[in-house]
Amino acid sequence: MTNERQGDLVARDRAHLWHPYTQHATEAAPLPVASASGSILRLEDGREVIDAISSWWATLHGHGHPQLVAAMRNQVETLDHVLFAGTTHEPAVALAEGLLEVVPAGLTRVFYSDNGSTAVEVALKMVRQTWCHSGEPQRRIFLCLDGAYHGDTFGSMAVGDPDPFFLPFEPMLFEARRVPAQAEAIHQALEELGDRCAGVIFEPLVQGAAGMQMQTVAFVQELREQCDRFGIPLIADEVMTGFGRTGSLFACGKAEISPDILCLAKGLTGGSFPLSATLTSERFFNAFLSEDRTRAFFHGHTFTANPIGCAVGLASLEVCRREDTPGRLENIGSTIHASLARGLANNPRVENLRRMGGIAAMDLVPPGGMERGYLSSLQPALRAAALERGVLLRPLGNVLYALPPASTTVDQCERIAEVMIELVALCDEKA
Ligand SMILES: *Cc1c(COP(=O)(O)O)cnc(C)c1O
Repeated sequence: MTNERQGDLVARDRAHLWHPYTQHATEAAPLPVASASGSILRLEDGREVIDAISSWWATLHGHGHPQLVAAMRNQVETLDHVLFAGTTHEPAVALAEGLLEVVPAGLTRVFYSDNGSTAVEVALKMVRQTWCHSGEPQRRIFLCLDGAYHGDTFGSMAVGDPDPFFLPFEPMLFEARRVPAQAEAIHQALEELGDRCAGVIFEPLVQGAAGMQMQTVAFVQELREQCDRFGIPLIADEVMTGFGRTGSLFACGKAEISPDILCLAKGLTGGSFPLSATLTSERFFNAFLSEDRTRAFFHGHTFTANPIGCAVGLASLEVCRREDTPGRLENIGSTIHASLARGLANNPRVENLRRMGGIAAMDLVPPGGMERGYLSSLQPALRAAALERGVLLRPLGNVLYALPPASTTVDQCERIAEVMIELVALCDEKA
């Protein structure tokens, strides 16, 4: 492709498009991506960039995995789409069966939708309506954690931390109780809420958007115990952590707990197609069974259980098993983390270098006067500097992290770590 064509695409984009999480007044031009394979994005000008963040935590086995591509191709030629009310199809049933074999014990039902925020909405609505059906309609307050991110729709925003993304909407969000990720604070809040509490929602082991904040297994187990003690359901949002990111297929599995509800998206299709799922135990499903038709779960989306998404989801699950995706991600994370630890030992610019499975992260101490947090002005400069060096990174404010797909080679891991170390040095220059 010529540079002229490339300029064209960016100009056409600039004329008409509105991008997610983008300040159009100040951000650099979008990258024109022509194609992708494995861990590499190819730009229209021929440059190659390592996708070190799995295209927003979605791409699992690498871009264009042959088995996933084949599954989509076969399915689109057989059954592209059909409504899911009053019909069923092989890909939807087979994926549900496949998922239920590998998720933590006790989950028996799969409700499909098409993005992570919606998987969370569905979970919240199922829990709320279940309380209504079981004669406790006063239970409507969800407990969530500081820094939580569960998506951008109104319900998922309500159980997220409003600062900084959701402040304009805060007065419109339903009531939730947010507490620090700390056992005593949670216990106290549950005591206070008493029978007004509907349930607890959290991101097990790693809070992604909060800045890759990591929890201990003991914390996850404590949360499970407290929910049991107070008789309330535990919703695990594994939209990011699911499918091997923590080095186990699921974070809940790694922590040896079963949630009452499990939310999956991003990696569900290997990151190649919009599909999500909300998995529940039979107790919730049964609470909706009635001769009374108004007690059904009145929620659904046009593309619920889209056959292409389900077919590629099933293929992705097979690849996870055959290629040991969690094990590969664990190795990738440990390679990057080891290089970072070597290159950044005793570096005063770096705090809390950490890792969980395939996720390696650190907090940068911003140069004098610059603020921390998501809107830290460090972020755009770091992103641009990484890109110049051939690596796609998207720091969460002053949190620098890598979360690459399972296709990432040892050389690519080393390059990612090298660039991250260079970014730390850049902060020194700015100081
Ligand atoms: C990304 C994410 C979501 C939202 O998923 P979308 O598909 O972007 O709507 C929800 N929860 C967590 C933990 C996430 O990382």
